[in-house]
Amino acid sequence: RLAIHWFRRDLRISDNTALYHAAAAAGAVVPVYVLSDWKKRHLWTGEKRQIFLCRCLESLGKDLESIGGRLIFRSGSAEAELENLVKKTGADAIFYNRDPDPFGREAEKRVEAMAARLGIACHGHHDVTLHGPEEVLTKEGKPYRVYTPYSRNWLSLEKPAPLPKPKALHTPAKIPSLPLPGNSHWGWKNPDADLVEAGEHAAHQRLKTAISKRLATYGETRDIPSVPGTSRLSQDLRFGLLSPRTIYAETSKAMAKSKSASARSGMEKFIKELAWREFYMALLWHFPNVLHEEFNPDWRGLWWAEPDENFEAWKEGRTGFPIVDAGMRELLATGFMHNRVRMITAMFLTKDLHIDWRLGEQHFMQHLIDGEIASNNGGWQWSAGTGADAAPYFRIQNPWSQAKRYDPDGIYTKRWIPELAKVPAEKLLAPPKDGQPIAPGYPVPCVDHSAERDRTLAIFKKHRRR
Ligand code: FAD
Repeated sequence: RLAIHWFRRDLRISDNTALYHAAAAAGAVVPVYVLSDWKKRHLWTGEKRQIFLCRCLESLGKDLESIGGRLIFRSGSAEAELENLVKKTGADAIFYNRDPDPFGREAEKRVEAMAARLGIACHGHHDVTLHGPEEVLTKEGKPYRVYTPYSRNWLSLEKPAPLPKPKALHTPAKIPSLPLPGNSHWGWKNPDADLVEAGEHAAHQRLKTAISKRLATYGETRDIPSVPGTSRLSQDLRFGLLSPRTIYAETSKAMAKSKSASARSGMEKFIKELAWREFYMALLWHFPNVLHEEFNPDWRGLWWAEPDENFEAWKEGRTGFPIVDAGMRELLATGFMHNRVRMITAMFLTKDLHIDWRLGEQHFMQHLIDGEIASNNGGWQWSAGTGADAAPYFRIQNPWSQAKRYDPDGIYTKRWIPELAKVPAEKLLAPPKDGQPIAPGYPVPCVDHSAERDRTLAIFKKHRRR
């Protein structure tokens, strides 16, 4: 028997549900990745994530060879490419892991229909989360709209254990594969960018480092952007370089071994972040309308300003608010931004510049390597005050106080804004009193935070009175 494994956001060979079942069911497996062509045009795609993806595929290809497999790379529509392969190879089944987002679900429907038409089996497996969206529901069987009761239920459920890596795949020879697109294919303009290392092996190393060096103090350091205090596993979860089962199992093992209550509490906090990820995925599953409108119906139709030169300044990291600019420059340079700074920059765009959260969501999707539709939408709607369990509209973070609290010595800020390297830290924590630039070439603040804060409150109040 010969089966096809359709790789999607599960770019690993260990603890991969569908790959495990494909290898158990068939003597030979054809592992395939189909790069969808819409990605070149879609506003939510960007070169850094695509390059990272291709590097992951390269690494996956080598890992597959170590167990007798060979990655077949194709480009186009999944159903057309898979149909072609079924016909060429005589495969009698397709195995894949389900994607929780609406675009992925659409592609699955088309592949399922194609398999039914050809009369072959098509097995979709749950893999991307510890608990699926239909598994964590209220007593009345309804989806949760608020994180805390969702997470309580999520935490109480028994967690699935990791699966072993298949011993052998035996991909037949002579199935043609395209070469992987190189950096230039994506219009790569920044070859010096400091992208995180791709592939399953690198992801396992990050998990090891997180467990041995970071998670015990996660509670204290996770909000300090200058410190490597978080796991840095988001792109690994996004592309499935690690399974959430493995992450959970390894963290639980470390927790059971640890004698320190505070270390255990750090790891527990980390596990609760995995629950945030699954909460947002469940929200997107149950309420796919969040992709184009506010989750909270009270705020639909809210007024937003036309994007102007301040929006461009925000994207480029030259608003004159050092902590905001540092975050935006980190994003451009690395495809990553620290979570605390994501919140600061997102609130700044929506509450200080009054620009529609959807434009910020799009910019982040273009640049984040971990760009995850559900988490990004959740984070943006939370920051805008329009989402599930969001910060209420009147809780507006002050970017100056945030900098004082989370980067008081300006270490993070100076790392990303070299022109501020010699400026005393206190000048990074308040608007310049004399209204003059704090360093040559660095702009003065583009708006006055307290005036814009009042304006936001007025906009929200006016909308509520409609
Ligand atoms: P850790 O703190 O080590 O957390 C462990 C894992 O938990 C993360 O890897 C991630 O998978 C998950 N997680 C942590 N915080 C959150 C959260 N608030 N929401 C959902 N999942 C979470 N995360 C993405 O993975 N992709 C995105 O596109 C994304 N966009 C965001 C946009 C905004 C405006 C905001 C405020 C947050 C966004 N986040 C997103 C959530 C969070 O910022 C990142 O997951 C986190 O910074 C990744 O770093 P880490 O892996 O070191 O996280």
